[in-house]
Amino acid sequence: MYVSVAIDLALDRLFTYSVPVELAEKLLVGQLLRVPFGGRVARGFALATTDEAPEFKTKPILAIEDESPFFSPALLKLVRWIADYTASPIETTLRAALPAAVLKPGARAKELLYVEVAKRTEQLTQRQCQLVSEIARVGGGWMQQLVREFKTTPATLRGLAAKGALSIEPRMARRDPLAGRNVLPTKPLPLNDLQSSALSTILGTSDDNSVPQNIAQDHLSPFTSHISPFTSHPSPFTFHHSSFTHRPILLHGVTGSGKTEIYLQAIAQMLDEGKGAIVLVPEISLTPQTVRRFAGRFGERVAVLHSALSDGERYDEWHRIRTGAARVVVGPRSAVFAPVRSLGLIVVDEEHDPSYKQEETPRYHARDVAVVRARLEGARVVLGSATPSLESWRNAQTGKYVLASVPSRVAGRALPAVHLVNMEDEMARIGHLPIFSMQLLDAIHSRLANGEQTILFLNRRGYSRVLECPACSWVAECPDCSVPYTYHRADNCLRCHVCGGWMHVPASCPECHGTDFSYTGIGTQRAEAALLRCFPHAHVLRMDADSTSRKMSHDDILSAFRAGKADVLLGTQMIAKGLDFPNVTLVGVLNADVSLHRPDPRASERTYQLLAQVSGRAGRAEKPGEVYIQTFSPEAPAIAAAASDKGFAAFAEAELRDRKAAYLPPFCRMATLVFRAKEEDLARSWAELYARSLADWAEKYDTAKGAGLFRVSEAAEAPLAKAEGWFRYQIVVRAPSARDIVSAVRWIESARPVPKDVRLAFDVDAQNLS
Ligand code: ADP
Ligand code: ZN
Ligand code: ZN
Repeated sequence: MYVSVAIDLALDRLFTYSVPVELAEKLLVGQLLRVPFGGRVARGFALATTDEAPEFKTKPILAIEDESPFFSPALLKLVRWIADYTASPIETTLRAALPAAVLKPGARAKELLYVEVAKRTEQLTQRQCQLVSEIARVGGGWMQQLVREFKTTPATLRGLAAKGALSIEPRMARRDPLAGRNVLPTKPLPLNDLQSSALSTILGTSDDNSVPQNIAQDHLSPFTSHISPFTSHPSPFTFHHSSFTHRPILLHGVTGSGKTEIYLQAIAQMLDEGKGAIVLVPEISLTPQTVRRFAGRFGERVAVLHSALSDGERYDEWHRIRTGAARVVVGPRSAVFAPVRSLGLIVVDEEHDPSYKQEETPRYHARDVAVVRARLEGARVVLGSATPSLESWRNAQTGKYVLASVPSRVAGRALPAVHLVNMEDEMARIGHLPIFSMQLLDAIHSRLANGEQTILFLNRRGYSRVLECPACSWVAECPDCSVPYTYHRADNCLRCHVCGGWMHVPASCPECHGTDFSYTGIGTQRAEAALLRCFPHAHVLRMDADSTSRKMSHDDILSAFRAGKADVLLGTQMIAKGLDFPNVTLVGVLNADVSLHRPDPRASERTYQLLAQVSGRAGRAEKPGEVYIQTFSPEAPAIAAAASDKGFAAFAEAELRDRKAAYLPPFCRMATLVFRAKEEDLARSWAELYARSLADWAEKYDTAKGAGLFRVSEAAEAPLAKAEGWFRYQIVVRAPSARDIVSAVRWIESARPVPKDVRLAFDVDAQNLS
């Protein structure tokens, strides 16, 4: 028997070994093996076995490191698909699919010391007696806990054990990320008609999601499949897999329409059938509030894969999933790889969210991986959002996905009334640009008077608080990254939000020696100060990267706000998603335009999504909500649509028309190649070389398949032209299918590999141009 092994070094090659007879019957694909490699011992995963001897000489494997496989055959297939689709090394992709903690040498279930009272003995001091009886009263416990609780030391407890009063033994401990949180059990809510019909679409009890005869299986790929004119090898991009049974469901439900309750009931059904489920949520909304909703319904059967887990917790949760002790997994994008047994359902909540895209190798999109995994394992997949990505929306229109709509909020609650405030008018009226318009101030005032809460949203991903010399227009910029510094008032310094570098505010302008700086733009700190000037008695909580790293955690701030300890929550994108505060009746967006003017084809879509999501925080309970959006571009389609009652479908229709005319996704695939080098000439010349080769390829492609389908941009400075001292040049490629782009890039890479001092990042489904 022979086995092909992916060695745990990013070599992007498989190596064949022979399998000694004594190991042959234990060997399974997905296992971690020990193999000889270049005079050393290396670790690697078994990917496939065969009895056919290769033409070259092979060495035998040394051992099976862990008999239970780390990857099921289906997960292995998924990983290989991702490696092919994103043109990533197979080993890097395998690694991305496993929590790092699981592979760490020495990773294992944790044993902790457990203390119990053995017998009362006479020879104890009064204090020792007291300690023993207190431990008896609580019925024993973990050594660590007892030490903390009774303010004693391990040495004292060991002393008592030596005298026979206590017994101390190692026991298996589950490091439970939910420990110490009281989670109240919840019961399923009776669904309204809209929710019920969405649920039956998901569960396939209605006719909608059976596969129609006229759609070939290939078309059910989330990726358009085209036959490449240049390659003849079997394609990794199409599946001829007979076991797929369910079309993906796009659940389009407005904010507050009760999507989560639908997920919960669909999962309950899976558990009843003996199946498991994965729920993907955006990184930022993986809050205790979200976790509680799932743990409240399914208790111990829920495993959480939170990015803030310790290695130990992560290891334990992963093993609880692998052994089937946990059947429901909640986590961010990497949870799509959770080794859930008999997977029945994958939910991708807020499927449009950019955090589902991994921005390092392998550059996969968890939503697309979810669709492929579901197909491989015959599971259902639900993509939920109030503002679906245009890719998914289009897939629903063409019939690849089934659309389930929940067009209104639960219990007859109204969507908030959205008002646009034209800041041009406001500026003309008072002679300068205010942070808060009169309308918004009035609205905040009335909430304060009624004891209702307000959320103020400041999109800071622009260059908010920039230090500028008005005399010569010099702007303080990070020397290593081509972005302006952001001014931080708390410590009076300038910080780079790309590399984290900082400097003190200079005494004078390096260009003209002027000393009279101005601070343009609005940051959260300045908005908070301005708000407190208007309402000195208001309680304001600020949430942004600075406030959360210091005083209070993310969770602390949100619980304080939920408990009514503040009138206003002011923050960045961190507060845009998923939060459900019943007493919030007003949402204000201070500068809607920031994300609109980014050099990115999805800028309009992102702006609309952001505005709709923030607006959705208002009026979620009995009291109706109101939203004020401050803007200089009230007529921009994304902004006008956010205020119109025509809803998402109208926005999507107009946006899709524009995308089609401009040959942009979802009407093509858009990839980027970013070349980085410490020397600008090097980055530029390699980008230019690749751009020329790609253009040659495009010409051949045109001849074969029709003009204008394979488009290659010029090599140009990336919008972020320099980062951490590396110069960045970019090429944008558009083509009908990802596979066509991958083939082209692979061909050029093999002919002209980039040298060591140039880094090439190839992103086959670039989500933003940066
Ligand atoms: P979404 O995820 O669509 O924004 P949620 O699932 O958060 O909406 O639901 C909004 C609120 O409505 C939640 O407080 C939820 O408990 C409540 N809710 C959901 N479904 C029902 C129902 N059928 N009856 C009453 N309340 C419901
Ligand atoms: Zn920098
Ligand atoms: Zn100056």
